[in-house]
Amino acid sequence: NQSKLQHFEQLSLLGELAAGIAHEIRNPITSLKGFLQLIDSTEAKSTPYTKIMLSEIERINLIVSELLFLGKPKELSIKKHNLFEIIEMVVTLTKTQAIIYNIDIKLQMETALKKEMVKCDESKLKQVFINILRNAIEAMKHEGIITINVSRKHDFIEIAIIDQGKGIPKKKLANIGKQFYTTKENGTGLGLMISNHIIEEHGGSLSLESEEGKGTTVQISLPTCSRIKAVQ
Ligand code: ADP
Ligand code: MG
Repeated sequence: NQSKLQHFEQLSLLGELAAGIAHEIRNPITSLKGFLQLIDSTEAKSTPYTKIMLSEIERINLIVSELLFLGKPKELSIKKHNLFEIIEMVVTLTKTQAIIYNIDIKLQMETALKKEMVKCDESKLKQVFINILRNAIEAMKHEGIITINVSRKHDFIEIAIIDQGKGIPKKKLANIGKQFYTTKENGTGLGLMISNHIIEEHGGSLSLESEEGKGTTVQISLPTCSRIKAVQ
């Protein structure tokens, strides 16, 4: 039950376009929101409509901010970073949220690998891990363990994020990662598409394996620094 998320191939063009549009939408939305808040606070008999409008604007803002992440490849700020430190930081951050649902996050990584450096845009890579961990938590809801397993395969670092959530039905698997495809009431359907885009920009790949009722594994493969040198 594996999905390679191949429909992302044309994404860089689409991504640039989407990020550009998102950027243009942001300013008028901010001014709309400001005036609505003003109406909401001055109207003697406050109507429920302004509240609804404000919450809908919040939703547009959420979508717009996710789209902005698509950006242009040249906007990546690539530096050498210690992968263990990046993952550890994200895990610490996400744990505070996971604990509410009785979910534990375990990181499995050989000591030797903890020194491994990768060339990456730190904030974008963190965004990918946050997106995937957030999905895992949302799929588990009640208790369980999310395991992050980091290993090395030739010139690539493989990061598997394994959850014990509800999994994805076979017939839905092909849709996962398509823009705006979500099964959640408050989802944007952008998290995985953007994550895949970011990983591809780093010369890596992202794939998904899932079994309904058992859980989902998201597999990320990132080239090591020595790999990048050899290719260039
Ligand atoms: P969103 O989280 O906003 O719905 P995503 O792109 O992050 O958007 O995910 C798209 C869809 O993929 C989700 O709505 C969900 O149906 C499915 N999905 C993603 N990750 C998981 C997971 N770990 N377990 C089960 N389903 C998942
Ligand atoms: Mg998501």
